[in-house]
Formats: sequence, structure tokens, C-alpha cells
Amino acid sequence: MKVFLRGVILEWMEIHGPARPTVTAVAAPEPATLVNDGELSLTFIGAGSAFSKKYYQNNLLIVKGQDHLLVDCGTRTPEALAALGLSVTNIKNYLITHTHADHIGGLEEVMLLNRYFARQKAAIVVTPRLRDILWSWSLRGGAAYNEVHEGRPLTFEDFWDPIFPRRVRGADRELAVARVGNIELALFRTKHIPDTALSWRDSFPSYGLVIDRRILFTSDSRYDPELVLAMDAAYPLEAIFHDCQLFPGGVHAYLEELAALPPAIKAKTRLMHYGDKVEEFHARIAELGFAGLAEEWRTYRFPVAMAH
Ligand SMILES: [Zn+2]
Repeated sequence: MKVFLRGVILEWMEIHGPARPTVTAVAAPEPATLVNDGELSLTFIGAGSAFSKKYYQNNLLIVKGQDHLLVDCGTRTPEALAALGLSVTNIKNYLITHTHADHIGGLEEVMLLNRYFARQKAAIVVTPRLRDILWSWSLRGGAAYNEVHEGRPLTFEDFWDPIFPRRVRGADRELAVARVGNIELALFRTKHIPDTALSWRDSFPSYGLVIDRRILFTSDSRYDPELVLAMDAAYPLEAIFHDCQLFPGGVHAYLEELAALPPAIKAKTRLMHYGDKVEEFHARIAELGFAGLAEEWRTYRFPVAMAH
């Protein structure tokens, strides 16, 4: 397989030179598929903010060859997946970045449909600390007492097969790595809530991702240029997907704060997790030099790369 991949890349380099492969964006196929030819593809199941009524919520489906992973599953995600021809029971691997409802509100439906109808457990990438918060503070009330199982209420592991990322020691900030099939993930802490937190250290657990060492996906973060620049220096990033708020204050990066990022960073950054008024900001986003918006039901395709 590696020989085959190298063959493809060498051929590509001969024709086009050693420039980095570029992203192409296409409409998501309908019904959406969970396999592809081996490229890395990212489909936004939604790209809106927590309260958006126009763009669903910011959740991402990653597909690479035979492997797939849904990053976050918000309140409206089961509905958005259904509109793409998928049921939550089709999704075999989940990853949770933090416990706001636009990222986890669909999980009760996933758990109940999987346990009582599909009779399967999905895998979930989650750090041990986030697993405890997710279960004890968010999911348990709707899930633990639906049955008495072996003389006890149900536990998180009765519904899920957790994949715990492995901590990377010596990184600048909390960093952990995991794999889902051949999809490589690095999870790092973000500075999301509360808005008074001075750094990721005193913020409530919230994670962003580097996908296959190629893509930075912030999930939810306040403006944190140190993070973006450090990740861009550490990984050969081809694209950045950054959450974006259209007004100042609050717990997400504000558009005019992101404007201060270096032009080369902005040129490969698509903005996501935006509010319903985003259409009024299209001209400003282009003027600032961003690559544009991440759009729901759009698939961003990254060609097969040489093995790292
Ligand atoms: Zn959030």
C-alpha cells in the first residue's frame, strides 16, 4: 500500500512539482457516504453556531478510506444527518470536543438507538476527564436508569467503547494522540470557557484537533493566536478550520480578532461555527484575506498524501 501511495505522489510531483496538494470543495454526496478511495475528506454536517437556525451546528464528518469519525454530535445533528441520508446508528466512531449541547446534545439519541434498536456500541474518542464530565454531568440522567442491568443502573461503558487518547509528554499544552483506523488525531486543550480564563490551563476541558497532521480544527476556542501559530509551526498544515463569532466578547474568536493573524495563515483558514447573520459579513471575510467559510453539507477533499 505504501509503495502504491508513493507511486501516486511521485507521479504527481513530476507533473506538478513538489508543491503541497490543495483542498477541493464539493457538495456532499446524497446519501452521504462513510467510505472513499483513501483521500482525507471532511464534511460539515453543520457549520453554524450553537443557536443557528439556518446552518445546523458545527459538527464534522471525517472519512478516509474505510474509516470514518463524527466529531461532535449536537442537539440538531441527528436531524442534519437524516437530511443527508444517514442515521446516527450508521456512525461507528464519535469524538467529543467538549460538553456544550451543540456538541453533545444528540448523544442521548445515539445511545438509546444503538442500545435498544441497533444493538451495538459505537466507539468514542474522549479523554478520561471529559468522559467523567460527559457522563456524570450531562448524559447519565437520560441514560443510566432506562433498565436495571446485572442488578445495577447502566454505565457509560454499557453504551460506548471508549478510545482514550495517549498523552504526549513535553508538549507546550495538554496534547494527546489517538487513531481511528488510519485517521490520526491529535487533541489539544483550547481556551473556550469561561471567558475570564487567562489560558487553556484554567479553562474548562475543551479540545481542538489536528487531523492527520494536515488539518487544524479548533472546535470551540476564544482568540488564541499562540495556539494557531504553534500548531502551524509544529505540523505541515494544509488547511485551518477556525470557529468565528461575528460580534466581540463571548467565548469564541471574534472575526476582527482573527483579522490580526498573519496573511499566510488567513489564506488557508476557513471560518466555521458562525451565526445566522454571516451573509452580511461575506465581503469583510474576503477583504480580510480568509479562504472563506466552511459550509454545511460541503465536503473538503485532501488528496492521498505520502506516508509521514
Ligand atoms: Zn462550546
